[in-house]
Amino acid sequence: MKGRSNSGLSGMPRVDRVVQIVEATASSTLGRTALTDLVRATLSELRAACLEHGAAVPDEQAVAEAVLARARELRAQSAARVINATGVLLHTNLGRAPLSAGATRALAETAGGYSSIELDLGTGKRGRRAAAVEQMLAALTKTEAALVVNNCAAAVLLLLASVARGRSVIVSRGELVEIGGGFRVPDVMLESGARLVEVGTTNRTHLDDYARALDATPDAAAILRVHRGNFLQIGFVEQPPLSALASLARERGVSLLKDLGGGALVDLGRVGFAGEPTVEGCVRAGCSAVVFSTDKALGGPQGGALVGSAALVDRARRHPLARALRLGRLPIVALEATLTSYRSERAWLEIPILRMAGTPLDELEARAASWVRALDGRSPASLSIVPTEAAFGGGTLAGRTAPSVALAIDVSSALGAGGADALAEALRTGAPSVMAMVVSSRVMLDARTVSPDEDDALIAATRRALATAFSQQGKIEVS
Ligand SMILES: *Cc1c(COP(=O)(O)O)cnc(C)c1O
Repeated sequence: MKGRSNSGLSGMPRVDRVVQIVEATASSTLGRTALTDLVRATLSELRAACLEHGAAVPDEQAVAEAVLARARELRAQSAARVINATGVLLHTNLGRAPLSAGATRALAETAGGYSSIELDLGTGKRGRRAAAVEQMLAALTKTEAALVVNNCAAAVLLLLASVARGRSVIVSRGELVEIGGGFRVPDVMLESGARLVEVGTTNRTHLDDYARALDATPDAAAILRVHRGNFLQIGFVEQPPLSALASLARERGVSLLKDLGGGALVDLGRVGFAGEPTVEGCVRAGCSAVVFSTDKALGGPQGGALVGSAALVDRARRHPLARALRLGRLPIVALEATLTSYRSERAWLEIPILRMAGTPLDELEARAASWVRALDGRSPASLSIVPTEAAFGGGTLAGRTAPSVALAIDVSSALGAGGADALAEALRTGAPSVMAMVVSSRVMLDARTVSPDEDDALIAATRRALATAFSQQGKIEVS
């Protein structure tokens, strides 16, 4: 066995030969150094397979193909531009909110150079990081103060640690929820050093439950209210209004903290998605502090905000975790530019997520019709425009949708039942990548989440994907 492996290994292709072969193929996009590393890694894996399992020694061509396959895998995992044709506005796997033109411009202007992120240009002295953004957030939400951190999960952790470390926090059993990505309220509470006191039941928690828990918990620092945005409870359900809970908290001298998640700064009912509480509404109801994401309904970059009373915000700011959880330089720039769109009425339609949500149905129908005209006659696929329902997504407004339209591509007559999946895969792996939905064996391209300036790219990508799906089918038939 050993002898056979050794004799085999002597025939292993040389690194430089494989590099040459890969470089000669058009599909190689790696630089020479990265490619050489990849060839070495692939060869060492293949060598190990020969030694351990007695696998046959591959020739140069086989190694080159293995290297190209690995390069494709690496490319598929990178964060590339995607056209979102899913009809889910805040698609968690697609980076949530796309940035406004203003935010993109601000990034382009500042990212490549130095910026006055912690410098007061007026005095030339050290300034507070994100001071402008925080002042804008406090003004927009009509609160005393604001603090920005890396995301909403970080804001919850920081708020609980700074308000209630070593003390108790009262939470309804109906709000011990899990948000996507492994964020679970009881676990975050534990990590913050606060003690969780559960009240009520899964479906019903009364004001009295909170009052009795406060009676029995002398070390209570706060009541935490968690927004239930990513699931629905219907039927025999009750929770006290936020304002009633705020009065109770005030009477008992504890803070009312709200994990809002969504972070709507305007009423989403104005863009067709009613029912999501706004940050200002929570503040007005009497919350001491509200935390939310800046890349959900707010429509900005990844970030988390903590707004509320100056005392609580200040405590969070001075907590040692604040430095570890701080917001990055580029999101601060993008967030500041995003927030300027909220300074005047209707200017917030500059924010893509809100503009897309509020686009009238007839405009979407006209765009879908133009896609059909551009694609028709060029493929054996059957094209139609069908009504759909678009969702807000991102863990907000579960179960609520707004009417939309999609271009439905039916390839089943030519490609059979698996044709839709093959086409969706070709769309996904194309450049630019297009994320579509497959519904009843048809590929759906929902117009609500595609920006008009992506129309040409979408049509070109769809043409290429159709050609790929049909040519693959051809190969299958031949073999
Ligand atoms: C989305 C969400 C979070 C987490 O926000 P991230 O910005 O993703 O960290 C926390 N709480 C609630 C209620 C949410 O909806």
